[in-house]
Amino acid sequence: MIYRRLGRSGLQVSLFSLGSWVTFHNQVDHVGVREMMAMAWDAGVNFFDNAEVYANGESEVLMGKALKELSWNRLDYVISSKFYWGLKGGEMPQSSINSRNTLNRKYLLQAVDGSLQRLGLEYLDLIYCHRADQHTPIEETVWAMHHIIEQGKALYWGTSEWSAAEIMAAWEIAERHHLHKPVMEQPEYHLFHRQRVEKEYARLYEHMGLGLTTWSPLASGLLTGKYLNGVPEGSRASLQALSFLKEGLLDPDKNAAVAELRDFAQSINCSVSQLALAWVAHNPHVSSVILGASRQEQLQENLAALHVLKALTPENVQRIESITEKYAD
Ligand code: NDP
Repeated sequence: MIYRRLGRSGLQVSLFSLGSWVTFHNQVDHVGVREMMAMAWDAGVNFFDNAEVYANGESEVLMGKALKELSWNRLDYVISSKFYWGLKGGEMPQSSINSRNTLNRKYLLQAVDGSLQRLGLEYLDLIYCHRADQHTPIEETVWAMHHIIEQGKALYWGTSEWSAAEIMAAWEIAERHHLHKPVMEQPEYHLFHRQRVEKEYARLYEHMGLGLTTWSPLASGLLTGKYLNGVPEGSRASLQALSFLKEGLLDPDKNAAVAELRDFAQSINCSVSQLALAWVAHNPHVSSVILGASRQEQLQENLAALHVLKALTPENVQRIESITEKYAD
């Protein structure tokens, strides 16, 4: 495994980490979760990503159970959670007005307690504001995140899918008041989605030392080539709850590019999934690429993508990008 510092912080995270969105509870049961986490751990993974809203809290419950059974040394692993949507997505009853779609102080301070309880942990390593909240002043959110860290309930905080301007505003408030600053962002980043990481955030890496833990490195499975001939049974696009992803996963132009990419991957002795993962890891601003997998075989294949990094010569990177960049945003 390769370890990188989380931005300018002193914390070192594994270049590949394991996330639980969609999979834990919905596709992978208690035993499967433990086995997948153990497999990742054996490969050197030290960071496991979660969120309050994943499977309405059940993903945290399963990860907590697995951590208890695996009984690793608490110093050796990094656990995250994220807050914004509340414990349950979907329709919002009036009574939930202060606990859904918000980053207000009242919600954040109790949300962290809920996560800790479900995970069975005394502290979270990383906490993220899962989206920006247009209604709560950024200053209120920054103070709340600072207080959570001061209480010892989390060690570092960051954002997910905030604009560069919002991240910078939070950082400056923290700088002005000597508060704990946001350290990391969690953006979508893969061969078909590049703009934000490569252009919008460009100044933040140097200026504030922003680190990235990136999501959906395989574009929800599109970059594995599994959607070249329609929707395979049991795949993410076949899940009713995720039907909003289907059109994008079946995009003919992107799938044609994936087919071309697959031929190139074969020529350098790896799978197209491995090539796509190594490409994300190749970006030095990425501290950790969060992997997703619904089966152990997928995780095994994906973790082995680390070996493909050395094949990413400037010529090969150029070739990969020339195949996909027409369809990338
Ligand atoms: P990917 O884009 O890598 O998609 C993972 C899915 O692709 C798997 O669950 C599986 O789905 C399929 N897959 C993966 N590897 C293979 C393979 N080798 N062969 C065939 N199919 C494969 O990542 P995710 O979208 O899952 O995101 C990763 C993590 O990022 C999440 O778990 C979460 O922690 C985080 N995340 C954060 C977000 C945020 O807003 N901050 C948003 C989304 C994710 P299947 O078998 O079902 O087809």
